Amino acid sequence: MSSLTTAKTIGSIYCVGRNYADHAKELNNPVPKEPIIFTKSPACIVPFEGKILLPLNLGRCDYETEIAVQLGNDLYQGDRNQVLEVVSDVGIALDLTLRDKQNELRAKKYPWDLAKSFANACPLSKLRKVDHVTELEELEIRLEVNGEVRQQGSTKQMLFSIQDLLCFISQQIPLRSGDIILTGTPANVGPLNNNDYLVAFLNGEVIAEAEIIRK
Ligand code: ZN
Repeated sequence: MSSLTTAKTIGSIYCVGRNYADHAKELNNPVPKEPIIFTKSPACIVPFEGKILLPLNLGRCDYETEIAVQLGNDLYQGDRNQVLEVVSDVGIALDLTLRDKQNELRAKKYPWDLAKSFANACPLSKLRKVDHVTELEELEIRLEVNGEVRQQGSTKQMLFSIQDLLCFISQQIPLRSGDIILTGTPANVGPLNNNDYLVAFLNGEVIAEAEIIRK
């Protein structure tokens, strides 16, 4: 893989719920039969570096560490064998979630946008250019909080691969160059606290680090 760059202009952000069986289980959710797709506002993107200000006074604010891919071309109802070719870059994003708010909204059967699209809700690492699609089949992520491993996962554990996700989403939604897909979180999501220090690893190498500050 090549050197790190800042993400180019970001279009929409599509996220995948419960894409690792162990995470579905920890929140007492059934394992889905098809991908669960939701969005985050691109206005929530913040560089995953330095200090990240978060509203820690609104109940639990959970980290969800996820592989993020950015598209370099538009994609609509693409051929299964070619969808991976549109991925230009890969990195790590945190799909931060106001968990209490999300549970409250879900109980009312409301959309959960308010729990997912608050300011700075999507720290995004610098990205690596994808030189060959096979790189997307074996990616490993890890999150350490204050020096302790909290989350670990690999593309091998995903219920729906990056290829499956691109096929599924682009069958129904026209994807555009610049869009980002967050591919779901492995187990052990947990709450952030003031002054937590986060380090994210992609394939064993540090790709991002930041300190959490209560806003
Ligand atoms: Zn997520």
